[in-house]
Amino acid sequence: MLPYGRQTIDDTDIAAVVEALRSPYLTCGPIVPRFEQALAAKVGAGYASACSSGTAALHLVYAALDIGLGDEIITTPITFSATAAAAYYVGATVRFADVDPRTGNIDPSTIEAFVTPRTRAIVPVHLAGMPADMDSIHAIAKRHNLAVVEDACHALGATYRDTPVGGDRRTAATVFSFHPVKHVTTGEGGAVVCHDPSFKRRVDRLRQHGIERDPAHTQQPLAGPWAYEVVELGWNYRLPDLACALGISQLGKLDAFVARRRELAAMYRKQLPANIVAPREQDDRQSAYHLFAVAIDWAKHGTTRARVATELA
Ligand SMILES: *Cc1c(COP(=O)(O)O)cnc(C)c1O
Repeated sequence: MLPYGRQTIDDTDIAAVVEALRSPYLTCGPIVPRFEQALAAKVGAGYASACSSGTAALHLVYAALDIGLGDEIITTPITFSATAAAAYYVGATVRFADVDPRTGNIDPSTIEAFVTPRTRAIVPVHLAGMPADMDSIHAIAKRHNLAVVEDACHALGATYRDTPVGGDRRTAATVFSFHPVKHVTTGEGGAVVCHDPSFKRRVDRLRQHGIERDPAHTQQPLAGPWAYEVVELGWNYRLPDLACALGISQLGKLDAFVARRRELAAMYRKQLPANIVAPREQDDRQSAYHLFAVAIDWAKHGTTRARVATELA
């Protein structure tokens, strides 16, 4: 039985976590910024903020964009529920555009019908690892003054027009997950990557209870080095050093992991019978192949999805 997802952990990963266990810090130590810098460098972003999950990362981004009660985001209905759920965490409402049947990704030509005066952001999801049509999405966002947030939880290691997913400077923030079914894992974990240092600052503050220690940003002068202010409502969405140690070790293998996924995808393409349609490849982008979702005409073949899934299992 091929599992839906299974992490690849080797002795170097285990050694990295053991070393972190023996260090003075289990959380909030020096390994967190090291992981963040490694991730930002890997995807060509200015900054990264590690956090407790991909869901937390989405919540932090919507909050840091000041999306709130009565606001709307536009996203795709074919995604994991967290893309939409996190918008409801901040009191916003979700409008679902339609998808391109060839990729399952959001179809840019269906987005503008859902833009209202309350729309704040467009949130494409790179389904199964295949980047969405970012140029068209950014053109719409620019026209209506909307932020673009990329839910890239399926797409660490993917590229769009030679730019790694996460490296697009037009995007306000890109979100990754390090759950064990994803490309690299930290057990549980996620990250926000961005290009704007003030956005990174805000995400970091919201990740840690809204705590501010920089006297340039507090309401009153701080009484000493121990003092801080809680300047806004935040959460405990930190990712510990232990997890970040695993993350650094795993990130070093990302290229090999993605290459292996692409190799398997090429093998599936070669061996699948003609009546099973493989995911569409596009010349200007490379999927990270989180999934290899095929299309089958159930009616034509006199079967059902449930039956084929059961037979495959
Ligand atoms: C996995 C995933 C998430 C959530 O990530 P968690 O780390 O599980 O919270 C969000 N969006 C998409 C598209 C995902 O696949």
